[in-house]
Amino acid sequence: MKLSWKQGLGVWAATTSCLLLAVWLRYYLTDNGFIKEPNQTYDYIVVGAGTSGCVLAAKLAASNSKVLVIEAGGEPPWYSWIPIVAPILQGSEQYDWRFRTVPQKFAAGALHGNQAFWPQGKMVGGSGQMNFLIHATGSPSDYDSWKVPGWDSHTMKTALDGLTCWTKGIVKPFVARPSFLLDGESEMCRAPVLAENSTSCSENAQHFQCPSAAVKLQRVNATEKPLLKAFLDAGRACGHSVSEMDRWSDTGSFMASHNTIDGKAGQRWSTYSSHLMPAMKRYSNLHVLTKSSVTKLVWRRNKVIGIQYLDADGRIKHVKAGKEILLSAGTIKTTQILQQSGIGPPHVLEPLDIPIKADLPVGENLQDHLQVPLFVELNASVSLNIVKMLHPRQFWNYMVHGKGALATSGIEGIATLTKKREDGKPSEPYGMLILFNMGSINADVYTSVANIKKEAFHRWFPKSSSLSQEGFVLISICLHPRSRGHIRIISPDPMHPPEIDPAYLSNDYDVQCSIDTIKQGVELLNTDSFRALGARVHWPTFPECGSKQGIENQRYLECLVRTAALTMYHPAGTATMGHKDDPDAVVDPELRVRGVNGLRVVDASVLPRLPSGPPNSVLVAMAERAADFIINKH
Ligand SMILES: Cc1cc2nc3c(=O)[nH]c(=O)nc-3n(C[C@H](O)[C@H](O)[C@H](O)COP(=O)(O)OP(=O)(O)OC[C@H]3O[C@@H](n4cnc5c(N)ncnc54)[C@H](O)[C@@H]3O)c2cc1C
Repeated sequence: MKLSWKQGLGVWAATTSCLLLAVWLRYYLTDNGFIKEPNQTYDYIVVGAGTSGCVLAAKLAASNSKVLVIEAGGEPPWYSWIPIVAPILQGSEQYDWRFRTVPQKFAAGALHGNQAFWPQGKMVGGSGQMNFLIHATGSPSDYDSWKVPGWDSHTMKTALDGLTCWTKGIVKPFVARPSFLLDGESEMCRAPVLAENSTSCSENAQHFQCPSAAVKLQRVNATEKPLLKAFLDAGRACGHSVSEMDRWSDTGSFMASHNTIDGKAGQRWSTYSSHLMPAMKRYSNLHVLTKSSVTKLVWRRNKVIGIQYLDADGRIKHVKAGKEILLSAGTIKTTQILQQSGIGPPHVLEPLDIPIKADLPVGENLQDHLQVPLFVELNASVSLNIVKMLHPRQFWNYMVHGKGALATSGIEGIATLTKKREDGKPSEPYGMLILFNMGSINADVYTSVANIKKEAFHRWFPKSSSLSQEGFVLISICLHPRSRGHIRIISPDPMHPPEIDPAYLSNDYDVQCSIDTIKQGVELLNTDSFRALGARVHWPTFPECGSKQGIENQRYLECLVRTAALTMYHPAGTATMGHKDDPDAVVDPELRVRGVNGLRVVDASVLPRLPSGPPNSVLVAMAERAADFIINKH
């Protein structure tokens, strides 16, 4: 058949257009996974692409379900992958929700208006894309204290050990991809406890004991870090145990920090990189819609059947879920979405004329870890500071080898502290010390991200103007605070920030617990290893705390805690998980919202009580487990 030149041109144009369309569709819907317009219906809608949401979405997509992830923020900026720059994301209009608490009655004296700033990630990767990368698994007693069936210490040990690849060379052929890989370990290695106990681990890694992806860990090496070595030696000299690996312990120990960093590339390793990104490349049934804020849930009687959201242009839109909606919007926004949708206590919803769908204590039980940072001056050249970080060699080392100061988070050492009980056994961990290797603290950055008054800052970090200062920040944390606050919506407008009141230090136990932790930390400085570095703690000279500073003065220490305690960024507990008949519980042990069909919560808000350490890795394990509950049900 002969074609005229016009017909030939038409065929060529049509073929080229089809090819271009195919390439475009493949790029947008398959390789990339980000979409502009969602379908009308999915099997599952995951609200929030943060630490928990990325894990859930990846695992559900692997089960062949149609999954929509809807995220209020956009893609994270390139610099968020560089571990040391994490603090720079705080306060960003684009990447941080920039929440703030109400004025605190018993705390936050050094902050403008006694108000704490609460950064929370607003981007794909969520708070896990801006956090300080500390990996911790908590302690056995944490999970037993929850008293929630199915989340006891044995189960969590299995889940967390399974996620943590401590043991070299243990290869089980049926184990596809462990969730946590220690830098330099084989991709196939597994902790023996999982291999022994695991009977239901399937080849396609759908069960929680076969996590869906690998999170990489980098262990800070004490032989390369003199400051860390001094910290560990000091711990030993003060009678504490020093552990190389084992974090699963109630007995307390000093250890090198394990950070969620890809040691080869020198990059942050969030659940966006470990879970969502590979899943987006692999599964065309996984769609990710960004810059779209979920405002409320859509109901049919007592079943949640969809979501309402504002798209990138501010238009109201809806999407339906055939199976379930999974809220992973983080403690604050999950609480807000639940309350806006009529799930919450009447005293919060009725004044706003929001019809009550489920009378549950959503927003209560708010808790957070508080940190008291103290500056320790050194006269030996062992710390990081701005001058050293900005040296061209550091840039070269980072760009070419993925190593050096830029590839670290600055967090080098961790210690959990216990006390001796009357029966001679150790208590559960009560305090944590963190060695943050950073000699120069930038006054402008720190005061603006943490809302600290300039004058208070200079009394706290007096040498902050020196870019070449040697020193470190010794962070003391009370691990199980007893103060409880709330999050409540105060406007029917879903874009209006809720009232956040953590009621910091309203329980006196938290003050004494912080003081005990600080004392243990300062005691370390009197050991030979720190004396050799010329270590000297700087006690802040806040006028309201009197002129007699120091460890002997209880009144000063109390005042110090009430003035200088800052958020550790771990808000949790407002949609707490509990037994199905527990009146304080918002979700049941399978994370279903009580009395509501088609809705689960999977994020930090379900934690009944904070674990003994930063919670990110615990949340990864919980999301893996939650995905199994969901897959098993449908
Ligand atoms: C500065 C900082 C430092 C930290 N350091 C550490 C650390 O070193 N180690 C550690 O273990 N933990 C750390 N944490 C805590 C840890 O990162 C968080 O506990 C964890 O990321 C919380 O996970 P999540 O899934 O609950 O919520 P997030 O990870 O916060 O995810 C929630 C996601 O939902 C999105 N979202 C919210 N509302 C909506 C909506 N309406 N519609 C659509 N999407 C929405 C958000 O934009 C976000 O992406 C830190 C946190 C911060 C902020």
